[in-house]
Amino acid sequence: MNKNFPSKVGIPRAISYYNNYPFYYGFFKSLGIEVVLSDKTTTKIINEGSKYVVSDTCLPIKVYVGHVVNLLDKGCEYIFVPSIQSTGYKINNCSKIRGLPEIIRNVIDREFVMIEPTLDKTENIGLYDFCEQIANVFDIRDKKIIRAAMKEGFKIYNNFFKMAKSGLSYNDALKNAIEDNIVNQPLDIVKPLSVVIMGHGYNLFDERISLNIIKKLEKMDVKVYTSLNVSREDSLNAIDNIGEIQYWANELELTGTAAYYLNNHKVDGIIALSAFGCGPDSLMVDEMAYHCKENEMPLIHLTIDEHTGEAGFITRLEAFVDMLMRKKRAKMSVKPKSTETSKNDVVVGEEKVLISVAK
Ligand code: SF4
Repeated sequence: MNKNFPSKVGIPRAISYYNNYPFYYGFFKSLGIEVVLSDKTTTKIINEGSKYVVSDTCLPIKVYVGHVVNLLDKGCEYIFVPSIQSTGYKINNCSKIRGLPEIIRNVIDREFVMIEPTLDKTENIGLYDFCEQIANVFDIRDKKIIRAAMKEGFKIYNNFFKMAKSGLSYNDALKNAIEDNIVNQPLDIVKPLSVVIMGHGYNLFDERISLNIIKKLEKMDVKVYTSLNVSREDSLNAIDNIGEIQYWANELELTGTAAYYLNNHKVDGIIALSAFGCGPDSLMVDEMAYHCKENEMPLIHLTIDEHTGEAGFITRLEAFVDMLMRKKRAKMSVKPKSTETSKNDVVVGEEKVLISVAK
């Protein structure tokens, strides 16, 4: 590598990090570039990011800005801020993710170089072009070297996904993939209840943003499924099966994942986790609420922002889990009796359970 070019890159631990970091890691490593990650999200990082943007910006973007500031405070001079416009023909990201480099440029007035490759499959700017734009910043122009680095990125990404799909936690799958370990599939422990969470990886797997929802549910003896347990193909088929089409790039994590479990009846309930004020999420959650109601599948919608308190969050989760448990017990016990119902209610045994979106 040319000595006049950077040998380190800072990657904010936010937004595309949660889906793509195994690929980014393998790619940069293969090119001989050291990766510096921002720290895990803390309240300080959220507060720092919130200072730079208008208050009605969604939480994940505030968090992203906070992570860029964290990298600058660590002395990073080159920071990776991709512009992921579309991930398939007319499969789009929201305007904030598309315009991430512009947001950062306009709100952070500090000296640094942004590495801002564009991925836009609608405009025929594919993954190779995206990777080439990155490599060129480091004066790497040999196509063979770039392709070999992409191969390494895919190897780590595929190992990560294989382990996560088999049931390993997000953190364990990531750690092992990066250390080049393949860990055997853990035993699928049967629990009294199971749920699927529909949510963006950057909300769900960031333990501070999600208020550790997965661990909280596991402590309540609930088996949790996420988008990592569903292949891309199954997710796409599930969207098709409920008569919808994919429009948003993140739709596989939300509609596709929820629809997959709705179709195969493998869970007792669906939890939608989204950021307050997120337009795409509100459309996807409303869509799923409709299908859940049609199929008598309980769904709760939890919205989060920087002010979300842990106590209220736990109370709502516990109430939902409690309702699922009562519903399941009632279903297993007696023959349904006829009783008066309203349009929104479903009678299961002697229990009357509300099947609707809890806002
Ligand atoms: S999809 Fe929603 S939560 Fe994600 S960045 Fe866009 S507006 Fe924010």
